[in-house]
Amino acid sequence: MVPFIDLTRQYKAIEEEILSATRRVFEKGRFILGEEVSAFEEEFARYCGVRYGVGVNSGTDGLYLALKAAGIKQGDEVITVANSFVASAIAISFTGARPLFVDIDPETYNIDLNALEGLLKKRRTKERRGMIKAILPVHLYGHPAEMEGIMDLARRYHLLVIEDACQAHGAEFRGKKAGSFGVMGCFSFYPTKNLGGSGDGGFVITDDHKLYEKLRLLRCYGEKKKYRHILQGGNSRLDEIQAAILRVKLRYLDQWNEQRRKKALLYKKRLEGSGVICPVEKDGVRHVYHLFVIRSKRRNSLQASLKEKGIETLIHYPIPIHLQEAYNDLGYRRGDFPVTEKCAREILSLPFFPELSQREIDEVGDRVKNFCKGR
Ligand SMILES: *Cc1c(COP(=O)(O)O)cnc(C)c1O
Repeated sequence: MVPFIDLTRQYKAIEEEILSATRRVFEKGRFILGEEVSAFEEEFARYCGVRYGVGVNSGTDGLYLALKAAGIKQGDEVITVANSFVASAIAISFTGARPLFVDIDPETYNIDLNALEGLLKKRRTKERRGMIKAILPVHLYGHPAEMEGIMDLARRYHLLVIEDACQAHGAEFRGKKAGSFGVMGCFSFYPTKNLGGSGDGGFVITDDHKLYEKLRLLRCYGEKKKYRHILQGGNSRLDEIQAAILRVKLRYLDQWNEQRRKKALLYKKRLEGSGVICPVEKDGVRHVYHLFVIRSKRRNSLQASLKEKGIETLIHYPIPIHLQEAYNDLGYRRGDFPVTEKCAREILSLPFFPELSQREIDEVGDRVKNFCKGR
């Protein structure tokens, strides 16, 4: 029996610190936008190597508010990938803009630079091209997207870049943190993320003071001073309790990411010669392995066979966003993004978290190997 993830192991290791941080909040009696949120905003922004950070309700809200702050609206188009969690596209749709998908690179599962450039070139007329306002790259599974090429294309086509770093806390591209390349970068603190809270939470980072101010307004009723509202913002705040807990966990993030990287290596060694495709780490990149995703032509029977042995696996994600019912109206069809669709049929996420034991890795690895041999 190997669980897909077991958050109680992390909790046990830092129980006292978590409980005393929580107690501190209760004792202060302040639960919304107090010292904990401000301190965490400073600490996580510094960790990411940027000037400003704004705590929000969730990763989805972070993406949505970032797009809003950037002025994305109805009639605009924003480029992203169909091989992501649906929230990457939902955030775009919520602004009234239209998501435009491009295919992915089969090695990193991130946006394919050639496909991106192809789409931008195809939009020949100035008018149509003008509808595309931004690129929203996703650092999927913890592997940073090709940020150099993306930033270069964005400059050439005058597009904003807003990064979905919800799976990439601490990941680096050429020594620079994922999320810190674009005009804004967005994070989720959903409990299973590399940095996860004890409930929902999210974050937006930026170096731009104007955007920082706008994000702060947008997450709290557009309130400039008490009961003075200068724009129509909603309620999307990070709680004090979450911030206090995240401050404790941030101190462990690098250590946990190192454990993820070590364990990914152990998996790769154990799976050598099995025939399944293992995750790669491109040169100059620091992969933080939010997930450990393998690929097999016989994915469905492999998953069933592992389940029989008590090994939990998941698929991230089984239906690409352009084929989701919710996005029927965009007019995409099966076959539009061949690499994305092929990967959706073959990918499998193995049990993975920093506290996974060597014994568990060996057990999962050997089960996968035996399945592959037994064909
Ligand atoms: C988790 C996640 C989100 C959404 O974050 P929530 O905090 O769950 O709203 C967005 N994009 C990606 C790639 C994610 O993994």
